[in-house]
Amino acid sequence: MTRRVSIFGATGSIGQNTLDLIRRRREEFSVVALSGGRNVARLAADAREFGAELAVVADPALHAALKAALAGSGIEAAAGAEALVEAAARPAEWVMSAIVGIAGLAPGLAALEQGATLALANKESLVTAGPLLLAGAARHGATILPVDSEHSAIFQALVGEDVSAVERVIITASGGPFRDWPVSRLARASLEQALNHPNWKMGQRITIDSASMFNKALEVIETKEFFGFSPEQIEVLVHPESLVHALVGFRDGALMAHLGVADMRHAIGYALNWPRRRELPVERLDLARIGRLRFEPPDEARFPALRLAREVMATGGLAGAAFNAAKERALDGFIAGRIGFMDMARVVEAVLETLEASGALRADAVPPLDMVVRADHLARRQADAAMARLENAD
Ligand code: NAD
Ligand code: MG
Repeated sequence: MTRRVSIFGATGSIGQNTLDLIRRRREEFSVVALSGGRNVARLAADAREFGAELAVVADPALHAALKAALAGSGIEAAAGAEALVEAAARPAEWVMSAIVGIAGLAPGLAALEQGATLALANKESLVTAGPLLLAGAARHGATILPVDSEHSAIFQALVGEDVSAVERVIITASGGPFRDWPVSRLARASLEQALNHPNWKMGQRITIDSASMFNKALEVIETKEFFGFSPEQIEVLVHPESLVHALVGFRDGALMAHLGVADMRHAIGYALNWPRRRELPVERLDLARIGRLRFEPPDEARFPALRLAREVMATGGLAGAAFNAAKERALDGFIAGRIGFMDMARVVEAVLETLEASGALRADAVPPLDMVVRADHLARRQADAAMARLENAD
C-alpha cells in the first residue's frame, strides 16, 4: 500500500527538500497534489516526475501556462487560492504545508478537515490562527506535526515525557548575518546583506526574517500556540553554530537538547516517518571536529522583534494575526527598498499599538477564519499607512 501525500509550496525550499525525501522512497508514496506560487516549469516537471493527480499554481494568471506545461500528461491543472483549498481537501494521508505566509492557512485547515496528518512548516498559520488549527485537528482527529527545526526538536525531546513536568523550553537562534552588528549599522543593512544567512539555506522571506529575528519572534509565538506553554516558559538563546535546535528543561533541572546539522530534511523527515525513525540522508554531526558550541543571550534592543513577540502573546486575541500581517507587509516594504531594516519593527509596533487601542484585536478564545482574515487585512492597511508616514518623514 502506498501512502497518499500532497505538498503545498512544493516549488519552494521546504517543498523541494520534501520531494527529495519522497524521491528516495518513491515506491512508498503516491502523490495527490502539488502546488506552487508562480514557478510553472518547476511545478509541472515535479508533477510529471511524481505522477501527481493534480497540480495547482497559486497565481490564476498562470492557469493556461500550467495547462500547457502538463498537456498530454493526464495531470489536472488548477489555479488560484480556492483551487488550493480544494486540492487540500482531496483525501491524502500526509500533507506538507510549506507555502510561505498567511496564504498557507486555508489549505492547512482544509487538510486537517479531511483528517490528514499535517506536516506544518507554515509557521504563519499557527501564529495567526493557532487555536483554530488546533481545534480543527481535534475535531477531525487529525495530527499536526511541526516542521520548524526548533519545534520538531521540542516535539522529539517530549516523546515519552509528561508535558506537565516541563519547566521551560529554549529555542535557539543563529543570530543571522547581523548577530554582532550595532544598531547604527543595522539601520543601513541592505537586502543583499540580509539574504546572506550564515548557516541555513532557505526561502528569501524567512532568510530576511532570520536576520531581523522576526523569524524567531514568530517561532516563540508558534511554540506557545502549538505546545501550549506559557510565554514565561519560552526562552530564546543565540547559538551561532545552529547545531542545537532547542532544549527542553524539566522540573528536576534536566535539560534535554536536540542536536543535528542545519538541514531541514531532519525535521521534514521526522514528520514524514513519524512515529518511526528511519534512515535520513543528512550529514552526521562530528562534534569533535566542531570543538565548541557558543551561546549568548539575545539583544532585544537590536532585535526588537523579540520584544514585540512578548507583547503579542500578552495581548492575545487577534494580535498574532495582526503581527504576522504587519510583518509580511513591512517585509515587502524592505524588499522593495521602501523602508530600512530597523523600520520593519517600527511599522509592526505602530500597527499593533493602533489596532490594540481601537479594540480591533479583541476576540474569543478561538477566533474563526473570517475574523482572522479581517484582522490580517486591517493590519496590512495600517502597515501601509505606517510605511507611507516613514517615507514622508525622510
Ligand atoms: P519558499 O519561498 O522557498 O517557498 C514558498 C512556497 O510557497 C513556494 O512554493 C511558493 O511558490 C509558494 N507561495 C508563495 N507565495 C504563495 C501564495 N501567495 N500562495 C500560494 N503559494 C505561494 O519558502 P520556504 O523557505 O520553503 O518556507 C516555506 C514555509 O516553511 C514558510 O512558512 C517558512 O517560514 C517555513 N519554514 C521554512 C524553513 C526553511 O528552512 N526554508 C524552515 C522552517 C520553516
Ligand atoms: Mg525555525
